[in-house]
Amino acid sequence: MTSRLEIPDGSDFPIQNLPYGVAEHHGRTGVVVAIGNHVVDLSVLAAAGTFPEVPPGTFDRDSLDRFMALGRPVWKAVRSRLTDLLAGGDEPHRRNAVEAALVPMTDVTMRLPIRIGDYVDFYSSIHHATNVGRLFRPGSEPLLPNWRHLPVGYHGRSGTVVVDGTPIRRPSGQRLDPATGEPTYGPTRALDFELEIGFITGSGNVLGEPIQVDDAHRHIFGLVLVNDWSARDLQAWEYQPLGPFLGKSFATTISPWIVPLDALAPFRVPAPPQDPEPLPYLRPRRRLAFDIRLEVEIVPAGSSTGTVVTRTGFADMYWTMDQQLAHATSNGATTRPGDLFASGTVSGPTPDSLGCLLELTEAGRRPLRLADGTERRYLRDGDTVIMRGWCGHGSARIGFGSCRGTVESASTRP
Ligand code: CA
Repeated sequence: MTSRLEIPDGSDFPIQNLPYGVAEHHGRTGVVVAIGNHVVDLSVLAAAGTFPEVPPGTFDRDSLDRFMALGRPVWKAVRSRLTDLLAGGDEPHRRNAVEAALVPMTDVTMRLPIRIGDYVDFYSSIHHATNVGRLFRPGSEPLLPNWRHLPVGYHGRSGTVVVDGTPIRRPSGQRLDPATGEPTYGPTRALDFELEIGFITGSGNVLGEPIQVDDAHRHIFGLVLVNDWSARDLQAWEYQPLGPFLGKSFATTISPWIVPLDALAPFRVPAPPQDPEPLPYLRPRRRLAFDIRLEVEIVPAGSSTGTVVTRTGFADMYWTMDQQLAHATSNGATTRPGDLFASGTVSGPTPDSLGCLLELTEAGRRPLRLADGTERRYLRDGDTVIMRGWCGHGSARIGFGSCRGTVESASTRP
């Protein structure tokens, strides 16, 4: 349409993507979509009458929650109008409307796109669950008896979910001193990342009424990258019998762009078979996964040279998002617009496809060598962790942007 809308080759944001975010620019904060190196300010388009199905004020906000609450038919209508407008011809009315709403990405600051009400973290990679079981409970069966029958998860801390780029303060807590076998309090010595994909729910269910597994996709607004930062020494000491607590709750980073399910539709693939077959409420007519490629890069403190420490894929997760959402509501619990459900660490079957340092270094026993010559068992202060995800390649690439955070030194307060 115009030269400003040319999409750079390999961009995460071609017109087939149109992910949603919340951006601050020129003293205002509102809902935007990404295209190429620009964002489109939806409140400007709404004011010009582009979206008759959307109530006034939906996009003039610092959260997508109102839009997400409108439900799938409205999401589809807005996406379709945006595609028509952005892909259409160069007629003056069309060009003027788009020009008025376009802002260069370099001029905006991305904010957390949703007010996260509840946050659940699953544990749905069979490779990750097996490896962690082996490392945390050596000598016993790595998968507990329930694991193949239900998507194991826990409720996390929604108030500490932060957006891409937010610094991560090294947490302190209780951890066992291996020399004495006694607990001490202090900065974690085993700070880790966890590479995950999260889904965000839109219109929710009624209390007491489970979401059926074949309806689950209607409730899912879109997907984000998730780094579920973890303090392994705190986690190992505290996690039995009730599960993760302070070793996980200090921070969780998400990417700023929520990629709509419709943008990911061409990249659905059959999910791997399940054995044994789950109970009927977890048995959809078709089990589909998302063929998303993922990688994690560590840029060490004081260095400009990053090292990609893992490359993996999302397609072979044992439990699908539809099964996770059906299970999470199977007791009648509700979801609301903006709830975050993370997949659990995404690990593949090979040593270079593992989604956290705990697995990559076998709990610190085999340090990783980075490109700058330094080694890592766990993260050091000043390290930056950058996660990326995408489907397809070239001009058809649908990307998630980045999910990054830099580790800051621990608080000096006791
Ligand atoms: Ca996790």
